[in-house]
Amino acid sequence: MKVNRFPFPESVPVRISHPAGQFAHENFPQTRYAVDFLLPVDTPVIAVKSGKVILVKQDSDNIHFNPADLEGKTLEEIMQLAAEHTNLVAIDHGNGELTEYLHLRRDGATVQVGQEVTEGDVIGYTGYTGIMTEPHLHYNAFNSKGESIPTEFPRQSEQ
Ligand SMILES: [Zn+2]
Repeated sequence: MKVNRFPFPESVPVRISHPAGQFAHENFPQTRYAVDFLLPVDTPVIAVKSGKVILVKQDSDNIHFNPADLEGKTLEEIMQLAAEHTNLVAIDHGNGELTEYLHLRRDGATVQVGQEVTEGDVIGYTGYTGIMTEPHLHYNAFNSKGESIPTEFPRQSEQ
């Protein structure tokens, strides 16, 4: 899907982290094209496209797990920990295009399920929740089957 903006304010530099190893995004169909934007905690998170909020989770404290802490756990146990601790907002843009924004702070969503949002709206604030080694926003676009799809962002020079 093509978008006109990044999921954070234009004043914030675009810095991308590339997780490697067992948890690399490309290892999973659900996250194949996900992007980790390195952002300070409490950065506003912005909807890249208009749509309807379909999921909000913001009850997790700022607990994070370094992948090294998870040695010996099964992938299922790790996915369970991630699901339990990762705060997020997900938006349905119609036409089978959805986006999700992960690792928000506790009570860090500014939208509710069912709310219509417009491209550029603040939907929450970044935090440090889930499985991660440094604060970042995990952005992912996906289709109605839950498969990750590529996002074409504007060129940074056009920001
Ligand atoms: Zn990620």
